[in-house]
Amino acid sequence: MAQPTPTKVDMEKIVSLCRRRGFIFPSSEIYGGLSSCWDYGPLGVELKRNIKQAWWRAVVQERDDMVGLDASILMHPQTWEASGHLKGFADPLVECKSCHLRWRSDDLQGNNCPSCGGELTEPHLFNLMFKTFMGPIEEQASVVYLRPETAQGMFVNFENVVNTTRKRLPFGIAQIGKAFRNEITTGNFIFRCREFEQMEIEFFVKPETDKEWFDYWIEERLNWYVKLGIKRENLRFRQHTEEELAHYARECYDIDYLFPMGWAELEGIANRGDFDLVQHASSSGKSLDYFDEETKQHVTPHIIEPSAGVDRTALALLCDAYDEEPDEDEIRVLLHFHTDLAPIKVAVLPLSRRESLVPVAKQIYADLRQQWMVQYDDAQSIGRRYRRQDEIGTPLCVTVDFQSLEDEQVTIRERDTMNQIRLPIAELRKALEAKLGGEPLFALPPGGKIWKEG
Ligand code: ATP
Repeated sequence: MAQPTPTKVDMEKIVSLCRRRGFIFPSSEIYGGLSSCWDYGPLGVELKRNIKQAWWRAVVQERDDMVGLDASILMHPQTWEASGHLKGFADPLVECKSCHLRWRSDDLQGNNCPSCGGELTEPHLFNLMFKTFMGPIEEQASVVYLRPETAQGMFVNFENVVNTTRKRLPFGIAQIGKAFRNEITTGNFIFRCREFEQMEIEFFVKPETDKEWFDYWIEERLNWYVKLGIKRENLRFRQHTEEELAHYARECYDIDYLFPMGWAELEGIANRGDFDLVQHASSSGKSLDYFDEETKQHVTPHIIEPSAGVDRTALALLCDAYDEEPDEDEIRVLLHFHTDLAPIKVAVLPLSRRESLVPVAKQIYADLRQQWMVQYDDAQSIGRRYRRQDEIGTPLCVTVDFQSLEDEQVTIRERDTMNQIRLPIAELRKALEAKLGGEPLFALPPGGKIWKEG
């Protein structure tokens, strides 16, 4: 496979491609949109599903020390008192006295409004949790919050999971779900949204082993992004300084990605010590100890938390996969998505709309669809259709031509190299499965031959 050339991509190109091809739309667009809320379109929803599936597979399915959970978004309000969110989950907010725009004071370079240069108010703390009411009466007693992270659902279920799965330390709980933050400064497309999705792990360990597991998860998580095709040089670790550390964290590393606007956090990995279980035990009055069979002692596990964002991962993947290549007089835009992540795995393209080709092409389409997300496209020239698939990152195209009617063979064309092979239709599904699993295109199936190079 040809090595993709790194392209300095700007955010506008990504936003425009996402809009044009149906990856991501502004939320409630017909009403003018809703600030920092986004809707994932037909391709975006597939990309997101694939990201979540790849994560779940790596951290739950393929491990025997992890289990999954899907806790509710609304939680008992005491949760947020115990976790420290009611008091501490706040950003310092300043307002411009002239244009009234609001800013996070810790994001600002100077002392004036970045938009109009006006004078700013003194900072005051602004809690980022969305508040709502449970039941028909809007009173203080019925206030609940939309969770700002999925983590707390895993802490409060620690005992339930231990008792029902009989997991022994070290083990982890994984969860994917929506989180909500009333962010002050938003922007950079889906990088910072007010509603977003997290993929979080709470890994419970014996107290004296926390450092070892912390180091393990930092490496493990970085490798996950690299395995999914993100270029290593676009990823880095960044250790939090003493001042930056969250109230619960003993140590924290971010995995940063080199986004078009610069290095920024993709995932945070924190050593939370015993903070969470101690807090919830004391607030609920329920013991959240763990009985260590080996030492016959009760211990409070320490927690290592790798916390990633689905939306930020999607953005990093889009930026990293984006490429432009000269193509005769035009430019070929393509997304070099890893095959596991590509929204559409295979496109079936009859060479023309001529009636004789339709039944064969449709039959292939129906057959492949049972296994993968497949598109059927018969509009415009074959060259155009290849470009359309390149632009959405479809790894393989199957072309049905007039010769197919005689020799019962079709071609497979590879996105990155544009190489083609020709093979019997009877071998197609098995061959696609192998290629999507990483087999080189030119490893030929029985009856197959190289058709075109580049
Ligand atoms: P930041 O410093 O960028 O505000 P954070 O440190 O507050 O992020 P965490 O609380 O560590 O973020 O959340 C874990 C992960 O959840 C982040 O690494 C990110 O991928 C994702 N995330 C957090 N806030 C947002 C948001 N507003 N929009 C999209 N994703 C987010």
